[in-house]
Amino acid sequence: MTDNSFPAQQQEPPGLTAPMDPLPDHGEESYVGHDRLAGRRALITGGDSGIGRAVALAYAREGAHVAFTYLPEEAEDAAATSALVADTGREAVAIEADLRDSATCDRVVAQTVSELGGLDILVNNAGYQRARTENIEDLTDERIERTFTTNLSALFWLTRAAVKHLGPGASIINNSSIQAFDPSTTLLDYAATKAAINNATINLAAQLGPRGIRVNAVAPGPIWTPLQPATQTPEKIEKFGQDTPLGRAGQPAEVAPAFVFLASQADASFVSGTVLGVTGGKGVF
Ligand code: NAD
Ligand code: MG
Repeated sequence: MTDNSFPAQQQEPPGLTAPMDPLPDHGEESYVGHDRLAGRRALITGGDSGIGRAVALAYAREGAHVAFTYLPEEAEDAAATSALVADTGREAVAIEADLRDSATCDRVVAQTVSELGGLDILVNNAGYQRARTENIEDLTDERIERTFTTNLSALFWLTRAAVKHLGPGASIINNSSIQAFDPSTTLLDYAATKAAINNATINLAAQLGPRGIRVNAVAPGPIWTPLQPATQTPEKIEKFGQDTPLGRAGQPAEVAPAFVFLASQADASFVSGTVLGVTGGKGVF
């Protein structure tokens, strides 16, 4: 093993934080807030772990109250995120939800608004991928449906439910991927959803701009989160991230600041309709 390689490991989806070796860095020891999001109210889907947890922690340290969703299997990760947010003195609202139907997405937004007293920032972060599929003939109906519904339909349903609560200065941030620009053959379905997310980001920015709502996406490269051991082969995990120009995978803590920037009306008031790459050196165009 070298500094930039990982021990071979595997988990069942959706994957949990505790079994990961090494543990991801969500910014627990490093992230210092500067009140960039003081008093803002954020909803982060999939905030229990990985990038979503790092964003929840950073937002709370920037002064935001945070609601986030998690899957039933992820209760222990959700508790850890809640504790990190609560430690800052901000509100933490953990909502168990499988976002694969529109009524649930409506319920998540309604509960967020009722518990936080409104909504200013929506982070469509939850995502599903499953690698190990070389041929389109191997893509089952269930997998295609699951990938498209989780990554794309839920984003539409949540955004539709959220916009009526969002005022001028509000921000929507979608989690895209380097896969939208440089797709892996084994991620045919996932990569297509990420390209569609970029397209929807640009179009939503155009629709919602007149209401003063900004819409952007972050496109991460390889990031060390439970998604990876839960969906890649152990052999792929060993070399995970080594094909980036920086020669390594990123940590969730290295992605969260991009979500802070795009959420901040002080920093990004004229930034809308863009896709911000956090890729370790690969281009996002
Ligand atoms: P993660 O496993 O920590 O987070 C993904 C989350 O998605 C899970 O915690 C889960 O709560 C949620 N989720 C999955 N299916 C769901 C469903 N049906 N209903 C509700 N929630 C569901 O992994 P992560 O890497 O932090 O992923 C967050 C986002 O980042 C995803 O959209 C992913 O595509 C994107 N992304 C990750 C990487 C990477 O290398 N890790 C790279 C680019 C983009
Ligand atoms: Mg999780």
